[in-house]
Amino acid sequence: MANRREFIKISLYGAGILAAGAGTYKVIKALSKEEEEEIKKLAIDLKRTPTYCEVCFWKCAGWVYKNPDGSIWKIIGNEDDQNCNGRLCPRGTGGIGMYYDGDRLKTPLIRTEARGKQVFREASWDEALTYISEKMQKIAKEHGPECIALFTHGSGGKYFGDLLKAFGSTNIAAPSYAQCRGPREVGFMATFGEGLESPEPTDIRDTKCLVLIGSHIGENMHNGQVQEMSDAIDKGAVIITVDPRFSTAAGKSKYWLPIKPATDMALLLSWIHIIISEELYDKNYVEKHTYGFDQLKEAVKSYTPEWAYGITTIKPDIIRKTAKEMADASPAVIVHPGRHVTWYGDDTQRSRAIAILNALLGSWGRRGGFFRPETFEMPTYPHPDFPEPVRTWRDAFPGKYVLADLALANGICDATIPVTTRDCSFKGWIVNGTNLIETLPNQKQTIEAIQNLDLLAVVDTMPMEITGWADVILPECTYLERYDSIRTGPARTPQIALRMPAVEPSNNSKPAYWIARQLALKLGLEKYFPHENLEDLLDWQLKETGSSLEEMKRIGVKTFPRSADDLYFSDDEEVEFYTNTGKIELYSTSFLNEGFDPVPTYTAHPEPPEGFYRLIYGRAPMHTFSRTSNNPYLFDLMDENLLWVNPKVAKQWYLKNGQEVFLENQDGVRSQFPIKVRITERIRWDSVYMVHGFGHADKKLSRTYGRGASDAKLITNVMLDPIMGGTGMRGNFVTFILDKAETEVAS
Ligand code: SF4
Repeated sequence: MANRREFIKISLYGAGILAAGAGTYKVIKALSKEEEEEIKKLAIDLKRTPTYCEVCFWKCAGWVYKNPDGSIWKIIGNEDDQNCNGRLCPRGTGGIGMYYDGDRLKTPLIRTEARGKQVFREASWDEALTYISEKMQKIAKEHGPECIALFTHGSGGKYFGDLLKAFGSTNIAAPSYAQCRGPREVGFMATFGEGLESPEPTDIRDTKCLVLIGSHIGENMHNGQVQEMSDAIDKGAVIITVDPRFSTAAGKSKYWLPIKPATDMALLLSWIHIIISEELYDKNYVEKHTYGFDQLKEAVKSYTPEWAYGITTIKPDIIRKTAKEMADASPAVIVHPGRHVTWYGDDTQRSRAIAILNALLGSWGRRGGFFRPETFEMPTYPHPDFPEPVRTWRDAFPGKYVLADLALANGICDATIPVTTRDCSFKGWIVNGTNLIETLPNQKQTIEAIQNLDLLAVVDTMPMEITGWADVILPECTYLERYDSIRTGPARTPQIALRMPAVEPSNNSKPAYWIARQLALKLGLEKYFPHENLEDLLDWQLKETGSSLEEMKRIGVKTFPRSADDLYFSDDEEVEFYTNTGKIELYSTSFLNEGFDPVPTYTAHPEPPEGFYRLIYGRAPMHTFSRTSNNPYLFDLMDENLLWVNPKVAKQWYLKNGQEVFLENQDGVRSQFPIKVRITERIRWDSVYMVHGFGHADKKLSRTYGRGASDAKLITNVMLDPIMGGTGMRGNFVTFILDKAETEVAS
């Protein structure tokens, strides 16, 4: 086991990077020769096993090194992996903490008192799985199998997904869709005929201009992107950051546009207006590849920079200058699509505006813009067809969210609360690797839904708020203790990566495949899980591709040639896009067909009431939301969140740096724990900011319990995106509750 001091030393290099921005990973390279030699020497002596990281969705491939006594020493990136180029981020290095966390779930538990009271008894695996399978069968008999839903985040979801489909339900949702990236997938799909997926095909390493609008590369530590951004900065790329907060990326930018929150659409439309009216767009590309230019031109003609200034507070000359910077770099320019884009309810249209801007600049399919990724397709093992479900989550929302291509986690949550207008509601949830209490907005509603369930089974490695509400808790082992599916995913060159156990599962925890298969056996669905061990299945799959488990154990990552030399469009290429017109749609026919604006328009959003401030939340590079806040190593790097407050606001409220305050939102909901104030010019006076994932209320998380505040608790106003059902969460406002009653707000 790496000692803590050593881990912190290495991880702080990573964290320091983020403040440093450019030249990011040079810090790691700057280890002394002796240190490098020492690491290499040690590594040769140690046994290593391949893995890919599970601390975030980027899934960097690495090697797990073990000490001679069998304990884990270190995880180091795999040099051949495109996602990480041999360098893990601080969280990836700290992944070992997931294995060594003493708070882990250790054995199956069955609830013995009312939901939420957190009183459980230990159970054997057989008893716990029998309990779940009997409840599932009862629900299926009384209501239909489709009344069971799966919420998932992470690698294990594949097996529980297969189990559910075999059982007769396709209601499989990930909060990472409707609470995060869904609007941009739908917005880009409507424009280019394909979504972005993960990792996004942004060609940042060759870009000349990167526009970050509400995207915080460096704080959202998506490894490959951070490395490429660092390289691009070194090569002189212009960075334009639009953010009400002076983020780490803003510190590396030529332009920081401290926009008034909730007005991004006005800026985007104004940029589109300038690029068209000043003829800055890529004329050949637009003429050859797009549909609806004239309609777009007409629709945006009134969105002048002067108009946008009054809304965004960004001066017209800056709007013009930044538009010109983008056009000068075209097509090697990226208006970054962002990731967590569920803000104000018009998020699909905002993502559409970003997609349109990229199309006008000719960056889609071009070097320095967006490359054309390729994914290696692993063969699927033969099994009977899954049964056709009688109903799906869509039946709960007739005629709505037609353009959503995945199930909505919040939709399933809504449809669990019985209403007289709906003839069926969800009765059972299986939750794997997602703390729904913190990830779904509107906690009150989530708890109300849970109270209406006949079954809540939670499969996780750690106790979380959601486990406290479960009927049955199944302890999953960590990614360091199990095989998982072969990692594929879009990349410049198709690649696969193996994860295998470096150590035996701790305590009485089990891998997701084993759990799903045992449930399948109890439900009579074994024909869908013909392989007793995942190991056998992986070996079969790999042999079909010309590799083998043996080979992958040695190399960890395997790269295959692209099927065609088409990373970028060639100049004379006739491209058929998967849209209704076969072109890039500047004017969306699919939106028009569904009754939505074919071109984005500006909508004003509510402003904070007097004495309230918009609640903005984000990420820290050393944590993946609430998932890692109890990790012993990462907790050492950041043990609570702080509330960023502008000095002007602090003065009005007599706030001091480090002072603890409670927060209350527009609906009278208070934070459960206080949060310390950080007074900084880096946030606008109309907003406050905190990192998401703290303020845990589960005492079983011994380190992080009660540290900082939970933004999720304060998000009670949810603005639904009418196009795809995403949950806009940035329309919440908070005020300070000070512990000294005599403190008054200055007039
Ligand atoms: S970016 Fe970091 S946390 Fe995410 S997979 Fe890579 S190493 Fe792990």
